[in-house]
Amino acid sequence: MTNGRLIVLTGPSGVGKGTLVRSLLQRHSQLYLSVSVTTRSPREGEIEGKHYYFVSRTKFVQMVEAGELLEWAEFAGNFYGTPIESVKQGIQEGKLVVLEIELEGARQIRDTFPEAVRIFILPPSWDELERRLRSRGQDSEDAIARRLQRAKEEIDAAGEFDFQVINDDLQGTLERLESVLFVPVS
Ligand code: ADP
Ligand code: 5GP
Repeated sequence: MTNGRLIVLTGPSGVGKGTLVRSLLQRHSQLYLSVSVTTRSPREGEIEGKHYYFVSRTKFVQMVEAGELLEWAEFAGNFYGTPIESVKQGIQEGKLVVLEIELEGARQIRDTFPEAVRIFILPPSWDELERRLRSRGQDSEDAIARRLQRAKEEIDAAGEFDFQVINDDLQGTLERLESVLFVPVS
């Protein structure tokens, strides 16, 4: 029987975290992706409760003060956080609960949930990261510039994580992630 576990996936914006997680969720029913709360506006096609819970800043602060978030951080001018209840429930049900979060949140998890497995996704090159960020075509130039600036700081911290995985060829990356996620639990 699989024990529930917490998996943290971090990496610069545009590196392909969302793409990887979507493929993993399709392949493995024991994975559960935690849906975060954010004060960012929805991008085209994003669905409330599926991609994020979109909330006002006031509501976000209330949730922080009520202790409803496992971790939270400000990223590129918006707040993001992980609702604690569904994470606890998923782990109790024996799921592999995946958090797709930025660096500051991952550092909080290291301190509050040290048994979590923390994985950092790296781009094959800086140019490729910029290309992917632009190819998504959903962020303004200003937002892209802020994300690239932040990406430098995040990549510098990759060594803090338990595993570093380079997202070059998608299929190969998925296989490397699977080998980390599905190690037999002793
Ligand atoms: P993130 O969630 O990390 O911000 P996304 O999953 O939105 O990144 O991916 C950003 C862009 O890069 C998307 O256009 C996606 O299709 C593309 N992408 C993701 N992984 C790869 C890969 N291995 N090779 C080429 N393009 C990729
Ligand atoms: P985006 O605006 O592109 O959806 O997300 C921006 C960044 O916020 C990404 O690095 C993403 O992983 C991160 N993020 C999403 N949800 C959370 C969360 O709940 N907590 C933290 N700390 N970061 C998050």
